Amino acid sequence: MTKSFSIDHTTLERGFYFQEEKENVFIYDFRIYAPKEKKYLTPLENHTLEHYLANYLNERKEYKKVAIFPYGCLTGFGLVLGVRLLEDEVVEMLKSFLEYGFNNSLIPGNSIYECGNPATLNYSSLIDILKVIEKDLLNNNYSFTYLKDTH
Ligand SMILES: [Zn+2]
Repeated sequence: MTKSFSIDHTTLERGFYFQEEKENVFIYDFRIYAPKEKKYLTPLENHTLEHYLANYLNERKEYKKVAIFPYGCLTGFGLVLGVRLLEDEVVEMLKSFLEYGFNNSLIPGNSIYECGNPATLNYSSLIDILKVIEKDLLNNNYSFTYLKDTH
């Protein structure tokens, strides 16, 4: 079974989780909204955040980014990195990512040559969702401990 399907999503909190190691890469679950909240990223937030996360992780070679992918359910992102991050390293990374996003209004990959639908990239939507993430980080509202498999 797909690993993420074995997690009980009804008890999953907002957080940043190490999900699994697979052939020397490390898969993380960045859950911006808890599924039980029934709150979702807007398509503009989701798409713009995807571009920023991808670009940020490309520039920060220490994370050895393999891939990132937005979840179809619009509650967060999967990250595939070449390093195993500890909780304080995740917090450090997210803080530095927020700084990167807040300080770079030039959206990466914002052209028809670099993106399938640049009309749905929007900087003020990015700021909206970065503020949500910032508030959760400041309030220690993120969980870092992944739930046990339910199956
Ligand atoms: Zn795009």
